[in-house]
Amino acid sequence: MLIPCWRSVPALSRKTLSGDLPKLEKFDASLIDKSKDACNDFFQYTCAKWIAAHPIPADMPLTSVGLPLYLYNQTILRQAMEKAASNPQARGSDRQIGDFWRSCMDEPGRKVNGKAWLQSHLKEIESLKSKKDLSRVLAYLHLNFPAAWQPDDNSTKVPLFGFGPTQDLADASKMVAGIDQGGMALPSLDHYLDAADRSKEIRAKYVAHVQKMFQLLGDSAEKAFGEAKTVMEMETAFAKASMDNVSRRDPRKIYNKRTLAQIKAAVPDFDWDDYLKRVSAPAVPFYIVSTPGFLDAIEEQIQTRSLDDWKSYLRWWTIRRGAAYAGTDLEQANFDFFGTVLSGTLQMLPLWRRCANSADQLLGEALGQAYVNIAFPPESKQRANELVSEIRQTLAAESKQLDWMGAETKKQALVKQDSTLQKIGYPDKWRDYRSVKIDPANYLANMNAANAFEMHRQLNKIGKPIDRTEWLMTPATINAYEDPQMNTINFPAGILQLPLFGREQDDPSNFGGIGMAIGHEAIHGYDDQGRKFDEKGNLRDWWTPEDAKRYEEKDKCIVDQYSQEIPEYGVKQKGELTAGEDTADNGGLHMAMLALEKLYRSQGKSLDTPEADGLTARQRFFLSFAFSWCSDVRPEAARNQVMSNPHSLPRFRVNRPLSNMPEFQQAFGCKAGQPMLHYPSCRVW
Ligand SMILES: [Zn+2]
Repeated sequence: MLIPCWRSVPALSRKTLSGDLPKLEKFDASLIDKSKDACNDFFQYTCAKWIAAHPIPADMPLTSVGLPLYLYNQTILRQAMEKAASNPQARGSDRQIGDFWRSCMDEPGRKVNGKAWLQSHLKEIESLKSKKDLSRVLAYLHLNFPAAWQPDDNSTKVPLFGFGPTQDLADASKMVAGIDQGGMALPSLDHYLDAADRSKEIRAKYVAHVQKMFQLLGDSAEKAFGEAKTVMEMETAFAKASMDNVSRRDPRKIYNKRTLAQIKAAVPDFDWDDYLKRVSAPAVPFYIVSTPGFLDAIEEQIQTRSLDDWKSYLRWWTIRRGAAYAGTDLEQANFDFFGTVLSGTLQMLPLWRRCANSADQLLGEALGQAYVNIAFPPESKQRANELVSEIRQTLAAESKQLDWMGAETKKQALVKQDSTLQKIGYPDKWRDYRSVKIDPANYLANMNAANAFEMHRQLNKIGKPIDRTEWLMTPATINAYEDPQMNTINFPAGILQLPLFGREQDDPSNFGGIGMAIGHEAIHGYDDQGRKFDEKGNLRDWWTPEDAKRYEEKDKCIVDQYSQEIPEYGVKQKGELTAGEDTADNGGLHMAMLALEKLYRSQGKSLDTPEADGLTARQRFFLSFAFSWCSDVRPEAARNQVMSNPHSLPRFRVNRPLSNMPEFQQAFGCKAGQPMLHYPSCRVW
């Protein structure tokens, strides 16, 4: 049974706290840089003034109009935790978030507990007698630190391999067990393998960083250097055996059923039974192995590497996992590489903001109740729900008109559309964290307890029916997602805020902001991935071969448009990696505009008549869309994103879709030959 915790949290009135909350951004016509030409670079036209007035903060990899919202969301979480911490009568989840807050804000305590933990575990690994013990150490790290169950676009960022539940692609009604490539701390395979000077430099800095961390924990410089070299060699071997991030987007390629006997045959020198028992994984008839060849690499490393090499690898991952919880010097050194070298960020976020992040990650639904009480009243939920419906209805109506999609596929598209579950703001039932023991004086132990709770919760799903009502993001998250296997679209309360969405904001601004994001998520149901999953989430391509061919021809226009060198970062954008997101951006913006047109028509208004601020509603729609992406990204972070992330950089997410839209060119008087008019104009949706 789940506790209706939100009732036990006293409703904090907006009034008592609003004085402390940062002001959110909102598009305003005075932000336009009239010295610039809208048809030359619309991103600059909309954003240059805002960016000039908001330089990148030292503790951020970028500046963006979303930063005030990020601070706003974190401030609400902080206030909820402070309030709980200062209330000796607090019970239940209130008590948990209060105690968690106290433990996280206690810097001296973190240092003592974290260092003691690290030293004892490093010593224990040092004394291992056999490679047979690998399974024990690995199970411990997977259980007690995030997030073995959570693959990213490149790999699972935990030692050796990822392990967790995954939906069965052949029978989407249930969860099965999955094993993913992992064991690499750098963001993408290219970071290990490519020949670019900047990547070589990052690799050299990574080895120096690993060495430094060993030294900080007492190893001699010479020993630490040898250990770091070994770590780099082993992670590089794993990178070589891994699947690249473009192939990983093809669900058929990562769907490889293996029985436990087959897995044991591929990696006989790892004690699978011991590992599975230690993490309390249920027995299952088969596992989905994303990269079968990766298992061979694990076996090869176990066979060819000495016990000492494996100790280095495990000790490194123990440090890597524990450093952020073990006092300022280790946390700072960890940040110097993963924050500064990889993303260019100059300093860590203040402690309270790191604690707000950590609490949101570990106890997100306990905090989410307090968050929505302040930031997402029922009226906002209702309006957001309507907006999502309006844009999805537009997509359904438009799908019927598409010239490249045949009648049979159109029928299937509508079936899928009808069965999509639309989730707004926060879960109907909140997660029950009662079994997580929170100690006000031991942050690391709390993190371990919350993580073990989550790992068990995840593994417990294996073999059971799916739960479409579960959220993969916390209520305070500034993001949204479409889940092709669950056939859901999900908009947390954290993103349903200004500048993207506000009940007090005009319709063109809401449609340009959150409307485009809604269209984007809805289209994911039909893009390079979504089309491969049917309405039940089964891996079944429901398109006819002719439709698929025509789609790919249409989409190639977008792949080519986005496949560009980005000379200032020394990287080339892989149009095939970002195609799904780019196509969703282009189509999403188009759907949002059509939905706004429909709304205006129903109110007897035109989008093309100048309104009070001199702008037409259509112009304000495009400006609000561009404004919602205003940002300036540090070069290190931008390069990292291009290499490892399927989303294009913000300025491309603005200019490229607009350059494909005649309605935009008309609204701003752009002519052939100008950069904001792409030829040929790419349009899929
Ligand atoms: Zn997306």
